[in-house]
Amino acid sequence: MAHLSLTNVGKTYAGGVDAVRDVNIEIADGEFIVLVGPSGCGKSTLLRMVAGLESVTHGDVRIGERVVNRLDPADRDIAMVFQNYALYPHMTVRDNMAYGLKNRGESKAAIAERVAEASRMLELDPYLDRKPRALSGGQRQRVAMGRAIVRQPAAFLFDEPLSNLDAKLRVSMRGEIRRLQRRLGTTSLYVTHDQLEAMTLADRLVVLNGGRVEQIGAPLEVYHSP
Ligand code: ADP
Ligand code: ADP
Repeated sequence: MAHLSLTNVGKTYAGGVDAVRDVNIEIADGEFIVLVGPSGCGKSTLLRMVAGLESVTHGDVRIGERVVNRLDPADRDIAMVFQNYALYPHMTVRDNMAYGLKNRGESKAAIAERVAEASRMLELDPYLDRKPRALSGGQRQRVAMGRAIVRQPAAFLFDEPLSNLDAKLRVSMRGEIRRLQRRLGTTSLYVTHDQLEAMTLADRLVVLNGGRVEQIGAPLEVYHSP
C-alpha cells in the first residue's frame, strides 16, 4: 500500500484551464519523489492539491489509508516548505518552530523537546531567540525546515524551497534536506525546475507535461532515455 497516492487526480480552474489531468502516482513510505517539467505544466497545482491549498476537481488524494480530498490542510498530517519561507516575522525562530505544535495542543515539555531536537539537527541553536529578519536566506530556510520537522508529519511537501538562495547555498542545502529526509524516513514530494537538484534528490522523478504524467522513473532512466 502506497503511503501517498494520487488516483486519476485532475484540476480544472474556474475559467476552464485543465491544469492537471488524470494523474496517477503511488509513492512508497519514505520515498523521495521530485516533480519536474516546464513552467505551467501543473507542478505547483498538484502539490497544492496534496497540501489542501487547492481543491481537487476529480480523483482521490490518499495519505496513508485516508482519502484527504476534503480535509483542511491542518488535518492532513503533512508539512509544507515554501520558496518564500513563510515565517512569521514578529515571532522568534523558536516560536516559529513551536507555533504549529502549540496550535495542536501539544504540551510545553513536548514542544520544547521537539524544538530543541530540530534546532540541533539544523544547527539553529544560536539563532533561537532571533526574529527572521535577522537571519540569512539559508538560515530562514533552515527554520522553515525546522518548523516542518517538529510536526513529525506523515509527509513533507517542498515547493521550490531553494530557489531564492544563491548557487553555493542551494547545493549545501539540498544535501542537508536529503540527509534529514533519509534520517527521518519521511515520504517527500518536492517540486523544482532545477534539473541538477532533481537528479541529486530524487528516488524517482515524475515528469509532468501539459498537466499529464509524461514519465516516472529513477533519475538516470528519465534523463538518459533517448
Ligand atoms: P507550474 O507549477 O508547473 O508552473 P502551475 O500549476 O502553476 O504550473 O500552473 C498550471 C496551469 O494552471 C497553468 O496553465 C497556469 O496558468 C494555470 N493556473 C495556475 N493557477 C491558476 C489559478 N489560480 N487560476 C487559473 N489558472 C491557474
Ligand atoms: P498549521 O501549522 O496548523 O498548518 P500555521 O498557522 O502554522 O498552521 O500555518 C498556516 C499556513 O500558513 C502554513 O502553510 C504556513 O506555512 C503558512 N504561513 C505561516 N506563516 C506565514 C506568513 N507569515 N505568511 C504567509 N504564510 C504563512
